[in-house]
Amino acid sequence: MQKIQVKPGAKLNDYKAYGSLYSLVLNFLEQTKDAIASIEGKTIWMINSTAIGGGVAEMLPSQMRILRELGVSIEWLVIEAKEDAFFDLTKRIHNAIHGSGDGKFTEADREVYEAVNKQNLTKALELINDGDIVVVHDPQPMPLAAMIKKIKKVPIIWRCHIGLEEDTEVTDSVWKFLSLYTDDYDHFIFSLPAYVPKSLKSKTSIIPPAIDPLSHKNRALQLHKSIGILYQSGITDDHEAILYHRYNHLVRRILPDGSFGPPNQTSKLNLIYRPFVTEISRWDRLKGFKELMDAFIKMKKDNLKHGDPESLEYKRIKMTLLVMGGPDPAFVSDDPEGQEVLRELTEAYQELDRDMQNDIAILLLPLDNPKENALIVNALQRASSIIVQNSIQEGFGLTATEGMWKRKPLLVSAAAGLKFQVEHRKTGLINEDPTDIESLSKALAYMLNHPKERDKWGFNGQSRVIQNFTLFSQLISWLEVFAKVKE
Ligand code: UDP
Repeated sequence: MQKIQVKPGAKLNDYKAYGSLYSLVLNFLEQTKDAIASIEGKTIWMINSTAIGGGVAEMLPSQMRILRELGVSIEWLVIEAKEDAFFDLTKRIHNAIHGSGDGKFTEADREVYEAVNKQNLTKALELINDGDIVVVHDPQPMPLAAMIKKIKKVPIIWRCHIGLEEDTEVTDSVWKFLSLYTDDYDHFIFSLPAYVPKSLKSKTSIIPPAIDPLSHKNRALQLHKSIGILYQSGITDDHEAILYHRYNHLVRRILPDGSFGPPNQTSKLNLIYRPFVTEISRWDRLKGFKELMDAFIKMKKDNLKHGDPESLEYKRIKMTLLVMGGPDPAFVSDDPEGQEVLRELTEAYQELDRDMQNDIAILLLPLDNPKENALIVNALQRASSIIVQNSIQEGFGLTATEGMWKRKPLLVSAAAGLKFQVEHRKTGLINEDPTDIESLSKALAYMLNHPKERDKWGFNGQSRVIQNFTLFSQLISWLEVFAKVKE
């Protein structure tokens, strides 16, 4: 178990100074006064399984900074595991909660699951005091609650960031496997009402995930910084950008032979200011990268075959690049599937002809360096014409909210979380089936060729985020739960 230090960042006054957030902050301060007073003297312990990558690691630092500024004591612990079998199992649990995999869990699985959590217990017990409040995130540390409660008198909350709308045999079976641990929790938090398993409905709150508008990933970026980052990513070859070689070697871009290298030293791509569409996610099959790439290729081929080379529509589609970004697998320890998914993508890329290769950039981002990673994601999203999240399943796609905050139109699948975040034809397009290459390619082409709608949808998206999905709305709900469960 490791205690994670949180670096300084934006303060409440910085948010107030950001025009459209001013009243949001005042409302937050007013609504949370009583709850904050009621947990005085207690420490909130957040426990998850990774300090980098993924939604939990993304949001915790900002939430912790704001709460600390208001005098709340809050700490972050990450469980450690050396056994590959543990992360294999937790990945299978993760997939099963999303309804995929065979849903089979054995007693041997349970042994690994509990043994790893037990190894992390001693440190947790040294730190946590009676009366504190513990929050366990996602399935990986789930067995800890029973172990902690044997020794400490603390309320424990389970925060589940994933879920599936409908019950299936696979989801039933994984909830059965986990049911041994749920009894020890005092309260549950899910992202959407539809994700709550029947057995947990009575003690549950709903908190949709949110973004920090002033984090490195979301704050306004200076133009020169953006260009420098895009240059480094092989998205532009504006030679001015070479001045900003601070970003050199941070991103690796796919090369025609399927290897990855610093893009502008090894390939001359002639890519000055081409429009592009972006999906940034973990290399997970459920993120629908391969389907997106196929749809993009289909759009390009259809355009060449049927488009009128003199038309604006033809030129727009011809110019457009696809950017797919995800973590350099070298830095992600809890995602054994990632390497395989990336290999499938790079193999498909290698098969393409050179023209098509030049239209697609697969980028490996430096997740080991959270600040630089965040700035790169920020620049890529800001410079995109469209943000795509083509997930087969998605509990709640933070990337969609990040895109909307940046006034970008979204193209998403009808995965439950995304359907809740994006309003069809108001903040983007919902393409019902992420594996339907034909309809996805049409949706892409439609959005590329309707810039006015894109602008309008982007504007609507930003307002929607301010009203519903910032860390302030989220913290109001968290504090209500803390006040409710405290002993
Ligand atoms: N992300 C990132 N770098 C990457 C891939 C993803 O910073 O290479 C971020 C992304 O911007 C988002 C988070 O990781 O903030 C992923 O959250 P999301 O809810 O989209 O998916 P999850 O990983 O939680 O399934």
